[in-house]
Amino acid sequence: MHTVTLIKGDGIGPAIMNEAVKVIEASGVKIIWDEVEAGMAAFEKFGTPLPDETLASFDKTRLAFKGPLTTGVGGSGFRSINVALRQKYDLYANVRPAKSWAGVKTRYDDVDIVIVRENTEGLYAGLEHYLTPKKDIAESLAVVTRSASERIIDYAFQYAREHKRAKVTVCHKANILKYTQGLFLDVAREIAPRYPDVHYDEKIIDAACMHMVMNPQQFDVVVCTNMFGDILSDLTAGLVGGLGLIPGANIGADAALFEAVHGSAPDIAGKNLANPTAVIMAGVMMLHHLGEHGAADKIQTAVEKVVNEGIYVTPDLNPQSKAGTIEMGDAIVRELQKL
Ligand code: NAD
Repeated sequence: MHTVTLIKGDGIGPAIMNEAVKVIEASGVKIIWDEVEAGMAAFEKFGTPLPDETLASFDKTRLAFKGPLTTGVGGSGFRSINVALRQKYDLYANVRPAKSWAGVKTRYDDVDIVIVRENTEGLYAGLEHYLTPKKDIAESLAVVTRSASERIIDYAFQYAREHKRAKVTVCHKANILKYTQGLFLDVAREIAPRYPDVHYDEKIIDAACMHMVMNPQQFDVVVCTNMFGDILSDLTAGLVGGLGLIPGANIGADAALFEAVHGSAPDIAGKNLANPTAVIMAGVMMLHHLGEHGAADKIQTAVEKVVNEGIYVTPDLNPQSKAGTIEMGDAIVRELQKL
């Protein structure tokens, strides 16, 4: 029996998380869900986007399954709770796998890229302010430390080795940002020779984007600083069929949080249109993390059947489909029950 902090989140969050919980429970794995709130919904209810009760739950379980949280754009909104949680619990490795699905038609049918993003510092360190009372000059500081660079680059190589992947590419901008990105690249060059069984490559981030769109097969595991990883993982989502398909794990030394890569999608919230696949696959990653490999594999098989058949899927995968979030979750449960 495992205890997991459950945060259903904002926008499409509750709808997709309900399906994910339903599917995980149908796999037979025993989980006690400690449901708490965060984000816009919590702010409206408790006056804070990150209530003490939520932190207390995560302090206890050290494991969270989370729906997307809305963060207001610009200076008027509160600071991102996602970033705050990653920093508070030192969830330093954000792992975002993007793999082609046989039944989802895209430009390529053989993409298999894992973005490993540094998750605690860089340009998301939160060191941003106006320099003048008129607020006409703003400044943002990127923090890159040797220790955080070492652990994320080492994590990427270890991940490649453990998952039998051939190559790690570091994507950087050390030609312009000579200290912050330069330090990250220096560390990568120091660590790479310790893994002679994994091929090492490096690319400047802007060229990497072009290569990834034109020839994604050359990428395997990709490691980069925080913001580049955030952007590249949406790019890889686009290569394999969209944000509705890409899960993410936030891993620390003694805590972990699993979620989809996508956000709260206010444009489709409350319409039974959101694809639950990304969070269900985040659940699969969580079950592997818990050592529940059998249940994880069963869910993955059931999801693949439903997605690849393309009948009971949400309209982002098949515009002709009459199925929505709930019907897709039900179809995955039906497939699970056949296994
Ligand atoms: P988004 O990821 O919510 O949506 C981008 C586009 O993808 C939208 O057109 C949306 O409809 C579509 N989409 C996303 N998830 C989908 C799904 N499961 N099924 C089908 N289509 C899906 O990005 P956004 O609109 O830029 O951001 C909305 C809010 O989410 C913002 O407040 C942002 O800060 C937040 N956000 C949160 C997280 C997180 O909680 N980890 C991540 C990204 C964005």
